Parts: sequence; C-alpha cells; structure tokens
Amino acid sequence: MGKTAIITGGSRGIGEAMSLKLGELGYNVVVNYRSPSSKALSDAIASKLQEQYGVKTLVVKADVGKADECKNLVDAAVAEFGDKIDVLVNNAGITNNSNFIDITQEAYENVINVNLLSFLHMTHLVLPYMVNHSSKEEQCNIIHTSSVGGLTGVINQADYCAAKAGIIGFSRAIALEFAGRGIRSNVIAPGMIMTDMLRGVNQEELHALAETIPEGYIGDVSDIAGAMEYILKAPYLTGQIISPNGGFVLM
Ligand code: NAP
Repeated sequence: MGKTAIITGGSRGIGEAMSLKLGELGYNVVVNYRSPSSKALSDAIASKLQEQYGVKTLVVKADVGKADECKNLVDAAVAEFGDKIDVLVNNAGITNNSNFIDITQEAYENVINVNLLSFLHMTHLVLPYMVNHSSKEEQCNIIHTSSVGGLTGVINQADYCAAKAGIIGFSRAIALEFAGRGIRSNVIAPGMIMTDMLRGVNQEELHALAETIPEGYIGDVSDIAGAMEYILKAPYLTGQIISPNGGFVLM
C-alpha cells in the first residue's frame, strides 16, 4: 500500500511483534535498534517481513536517547521511503530496577532520555512528514508504548514511572494539538509481558507478582501488537490509553 511506519526499539520483544504486525498490515517498516548484538535480530525481522508480507524494510541503528541519532533515523527513513510517514511507534525502553537513593544521576537521566525524551524527539522530527498529507481519510498515527508503571507507582522504578507517566501527558497534548488534521496519538500501557525486560528481573519475585494478576498469567507480545492493530484501525480513537494488563490495573 506504499505506506511507511517507523518503530523505535523494533528489534526484540514487544517491538519485534509490532514490527511484524506492521508488515502484516502492509506497511513498509523502518526497524530501529541500538545494541550491536541486535543487528542480526533486526535483519532477520526485515527478511521475514519481505518474504511473508512483500513489504519493503529498512534497518537503522540509532540510540534514540540522543536527539542527533533520532534525526539520523528519520532522515534515513525519508531518504529510503520519501517524505510521507504514516505511522510512528515510539517503543524503545529500558529500566534501572534501583531504589531512588542508590541510583546515580547518570542512570536516571538515561532512563528519561530513552523512555521519554526520545518520544518527544521522534514525534517532533516525524510530524512535519505527517502534517502535509494527513486528512480524515488518510490518517497518520503516533503510538507510544507506556506501561502500567505510568498509571500506578512501582517500587524501584521511580525514574521509569516518571517517564511512562510523562508519555501519557505528552500523547494527550499531541492528540489535542493535531485533532482534526488527520493525526492521531494514542498510548499502549502494557502490564507484565514476557520479554527480555522481564527475564532480567528476579524471577521468584516476578512469579509471585504474576499470581496477583486477575487473569492469572503474564501476557504475550502478541497482546500488545494486537492493541496496536486495533488503534491503527480505529479512526475515532485519539488521546487514549489502552492497557492490556490482565486486570492488573483497572482504569
Ligand atoms: P526489551 O525486550 O528489553 O526490548 C527493548 C527494545 O528497546 C529493544 O528493541 C532495544 O533495542 C530497544 N532500545 C532500548 N534502548 C534503546 C535506545 N537507546 N535506542 C534504540 N532502541 C533502544 O523490552 P520490551 O519488554 O519489549 O519493552 C518494549 C517497550 O515496552 C518498552 O518501552 C517498555 O518499557 C515497555 N513495557 C514493557 C513491559 C514488559 O512487561 N515487558 C511492560 C510495560 C511496558 P536493542 O535490541 O538494540 O537493545
């Protein structure tokens, strides 16, 4: 269909599932990653997208915690696919898992840079490639991955929760600013989803916490990719939060 989607942190976990879903929906996909070890993973996603869905792909290494690298990412997407970007998925994220005394300033600033400021940088850079061609019939979408941590507090995640709550305010403001101009902005706030992010925490504590989820289990990346698909297909939805979380947080 000749439409372009950029996803930050598209190489693993939730981002991988979203990258594949974007291809399934017919978008040409710009898959961003940061870690050198994720190049092969990103290339494999790109190959799968081309073979299974016949879409075009571009894999771009960029640390989205840095504004200049966000610009390189957007410039590369425009050079490859032209000056019309239909979807931006701000998904890259990291955690510190530290109490707020022992944590270093560098560590919490890094979480804010990657989990919040990158969302502002990417949106700021991509909007000019949306406003000139978006309309009621040809909508553009900005989808942000927040977290239930942005809806409630989480112990040892103060910096992460600050960023994830900030995303929600940012998305609502962008939704209002661009309402009526064919640009929608929505948030997905996942509950616990099994990815490397969760594999990195104390598994005993994780499973004890998982038992408190009303649905009784940890979610799958497909739950989040499915929420993204719903948002893309819901023309009247903007400024909202969708939280697939098994009933963990009730909104
Ligand atoms: P993950 O498996 O650890 O994947 C993180 C992704 O973010 C990777 O693609 C990683 O790229 C990318 N990334 C990290 N820092 C980056 C940077 N500076 N520049 C560019 N890319 C960067 O985590 P996940 O669980 O899929 O998390 C995806 C999003 O969902 C995050 O925003 C996270 O906060 C949110 N979330 C996750 C859960 C959960 O339970 N899993 C719950 C709520 C919200 P590399 O592969 O190159 O490192």
